[in-house]
Amino acid sequence: MLDLGPIDLGPVSADSAEQIDGLLSKGFPTLRFPPELERRFQLDTAADRLRVIIITAVLVVVLFNGYLLTDALMIPDVMAQAVTLRVGLFTPVCLIGLYILIKTPSPFYREVLVLLAGVLATGITLYLLSISKDPLAGPYLVGMAMVVMFSHSVAQMRFWMAVVLDIVIALGIAVAWPYIPPAPIEVMIPLAMVLISTVTFTLFGCYSLERDERQNWLLRVRESNLMAALKTANERLDKISRADLLTQVANRRHFDEFLAKVWDRAEIDGSEVALIMVDVDHFKAYNDQYGHPAGDECLRQVAATLKRRLRRPGDLVARFGGEEFIAVLTGTSLPVALQAAERIKVAIERLRLPHVGSPTSSFVTISVGVASLRPIDRGVTQKGLLSQADQALYRAKNSGRNRVWPDPDSGGGT
Ligand code: GH3
Ligand code: MG
Ligand code: MG
Repeated sequence: MLDLGPIDLGPVSADSAEQIDGLLSKGFPTLRFPPELERRFQLDTAADRLRVIIITAVLVVVLFNGYLLTDALMIPDVMAQAVTLRVGLFTPVCLIGLYILIKTPSPFYREVLVLLAGVLATGITLYLLSISKDPLAGPYLVGMAMVVMFSHSVAQMRFWMAVVLDIVIALGIAVAWPYIPPAPIEVMIPLAMVLISTVTFTLFGCYSLERDERQNWLLRVRESNLMAALKTANERLDKISRADLLTQVANRRHFDEFLAKVWDRAEIDGSEVALIMVDVDHFKAYNDQYGHPAGDECLRQVAATLKRRLRRPGDLVARFGGEEFIAVLTGTSLPVALQAAERIKVAIERLRLPHVGSPTSSFVTISVGVASLRPIDRGVTQKGLLSQADQALYRAKNSGRNRVWPDPDSGGGT
């Protein structure tokens, strides 16, 4: 299948980005980029080039055969050869060439094929003129202007390919010249001027067109690179603004936003929202005993354990403040949330972080309050859910710590 869509090559390397800035400020008079950029440029613009080439190939076949009319008027003595070469040779070669061109993945070889089509058209025209005995064969040389104009302006040949074609045309005319019937100098000089002007103007056009195309491409790549860098920086900032710096779980702000979103959704689908509120037992004593940095490390380990235990897509673990953490469990009933809380409590105990200053245990422990509400129920609010979890935590603390307590309305600790 013919794919004319652009190829996404992703952002360029840092080296290339620097080269792009350099090229944009200093210019590129030779119309060549450093190899890596040149390869990207050719690949990026290949789809557009292919589209132009296909359209021109069809036009060139029609027009080149249309010149049979001119042949009949100016060089009728070689009409049979003109038909054979234009219809029998150029047309099928061009169509086969077009097929090969579409199948050729290399943009460079595609350009070479375009050049070869120009060389073939030149060869056929000059051959017909050199075998004709008609005195109009000389003036007919101006027909070469058509080949130049068409290849440079319509097919928009790459500048250096156009230069090669012009050299081939000049050499071809030099070789064919002795065989072309002589024509009056007053006719030939103006015609030569027409041909030379056509070459000069269209080469100039080719150069400007390719320079602008390259410049626009550089600007486009630079812009999309900047956009990609900006997007990455924004994502990083967003992530940082939502995370707690010490423990790398969500911060309070993110928790508030998350709970509000979950709450809104639960109000629509009628599901339950559970909160697990965690507080490290006797943490002040821990700091006093082991120092603040060790306290920080302990908080990191507690947070990491909570995160490991609550990893469903609908769960969120956040630092609520100081040595308190909170988890939101979407679509979770109280019994299920209690089970999760129990597993967390056990997991913290299993860390076996020594805590000699704790009257409760010789290791770090946590107290946990759990509440679960259905936002569609009458009189139920987000604030109410938070306050119930908080009261449950208070009960867990008061009844001895290192335990899980459900919200007061459900009664009974574990
Ligand atoms: P309880 O069992 O009742 O929760 O007692 P507690 O000592 O854990 O509670 P309290 O509220 O008296 O003390 C909390 C301590 O947590 C005090 C504070 O210095 C410490 N803390 C809060 N944030 C941090 C922190 O980011 N790093 C460290 N190392 N300690 C912190
Ligand atoms: Mg506390
Ligand atoms: Mg505490």
